[in-house]
Amino acid sequence: MITFMMAVMMLVSGAAALEEAMGHAQQVKNPYYSRTDTTKLNVPDSEWKKILPAQVYAVAREKDTERAFTGQYWDSEGIGTYYCAVCGNKLFRSDSKFASSCGWPSFFESSRPDAVTYHDDTSYGMNRIEVLCGRCGSHLGHLFDDGPQPTGKRYCMNSIVLEFVPDSTIGR
Ligand code: FE
Repeated sequence: MITFMMAVMMLVSGAAALEEAMGHAQQVKNPYYSRTDTTKLNVPDSEWKKILPAQVYAVAREKDTERAFTGQYWDSEGIGTYYCAVCGNKLFRSDSKFASSCGWPSFFESSRPDAVTYHDDTSYGMNRIEVLCGRCGSHLGHLFDDGPQPTGKRYCMNSIVLEFVPDSTIGR
């Protein structure tokens, strides 16, 4: 019985390791990912679906929203840069991130004017401005007018489509 339980446990940990390895392979397999190339991408969703993890695809390409207070970055305070998790485009610097009680990572400005693009979103009976990645066109979140100075804007983003790289890792 003990041997059987050990075999089950080994199987479970083996499956977890395999899943992690596959997740890593997926990231490596993304041929469009670059933190330096700003050339606009025009990749069909059918292609992204093969490359992206399901939860990233749901937000980035199907405009899903992660539940408030569940994402990785809503209350993180590290110093560094936030990139698009889909294509590697530089989106936000941590010095434009502010503590927001909304449950999603919030910024008052993007890292450069064309880092993101905007689109009128009238879904769900609301009038909102959708924020998309300026390089790959993935859905990132929405823009609101209740942010702090100097811009008064609040870029309300989904953690899952962001990838934070701390400054301390540069040069390592
Ligand atoms: Fe992108």
